Amino acid sequence: ATPTALMVGTGRGAQLGILIKGPEVLESTRRVDTVILDKTGTVTTGRMTLRDVVAAPGEDRDEVLGVAASIEHGSEHPIARAIVDAGDAAGLDRSPVEGFTSTDGLGVHGVVDGRAVVVGRPQLLADWSIELGPELESALSGARSTGATPVVIGWDGQARGVLTVADTVKPTSAEAISRLRDLGLTPHLVTGDNAQAARAVAAEVGIHPEHVVADVLPADKVEVVRRLQREGRVVAMVGDGVNDAAALAAADLGMAMGTGTDVAIEASDLTLVRGDLRVAPDAIRLARRTLSTIK
Ligand code: ADP
Ligand code: MG
Repeated sequence: ATPTALMVGTGRGAQLGILIKGPEVLESTRRVDTVILDKTGTVTTGRMTLRDVVAAPGEDRDEVLGVAASIEHGSEHPIARAIVDAGDAAGLDRSPVEGFTSTDGLGVHGVVDGRAVVVGRPQLLADWSIELGPELESALSGARSTGATPVVIGWDGQARGVLTVADTVKPTSAEAISRLRDLGLTPHLVTGDNAQAARAVAAEVGIHPEHVVADVLPADKVEVVRRLQREGRVVAMVGDGVNDAAALAAADLGMAMGTGTDVAIEASDLTLVRGDLRVAPDAIRLARRTLSTIK
């Protein structure tokens, strides 16, 4: 009877929009007491738009956007898409890029029209020994105070501008998180984005500020999972990105958004087909019900 009940459970899962890797996944799903949610693309739509471009003193705004769009054309990150779309909308031509390199969770670099360009989180520019200067520093903090995500562009050793992108919380996220709470789970938010943007999203969906971990490098997302596991938690991770794969694999239960990358889906035990976070509590309820009919 046990295998049959499990098969029925996985079949019912498929109807709900949950793809389960194997019947054994239901057991870990049932035991989960903590859910770590990736921010961008999981709680938020991940469809970012460019809100603002601030050029450094003496720099031309269109040139800043044009160079940024040229290099970001090689990246699939939602921030990159927002910058490329804005460059297209402004009618700017893109230049070819040599030596394009993307560093997960940090940004991109390469050579555009003979300039050695870097675009990404402020930390990345610091790694390149590029200083921002007071104007760009104030553009950064201004953008952060609105809950948006600023990235910096520099070339040839100098900071050239700040590009600010923002996305929106999915309309279903707050409801999904309140249902997870009703099931007795504690939600956490983890992101590579800045702390203010993370806290703004957490407040909107009902995650306690103490359960927000921001400025996390992709390699460190897995550490957030392990820390909670060491505290005795049974941890589910929900994510969509390449940068979430290690954490999804390390979690007691990895849940990928069906709208996410193949890497995330492969690393997970369970896929939420439509990318609707409300299916996460559905999956946990299903596992609890299926296994209680067996026992
Ligand atoms: P999240 O955890 O929210 O999905 P990521 O780990 O993908 O975020 O990215 C973290 C940060 O790294 C971004 O907020 C941004 O500052 C920077 N970043 C990553 N990829 C890019 C890119 N292609 N262009 C510019 N900045 C980037
Ligand atoms: Mg993401």
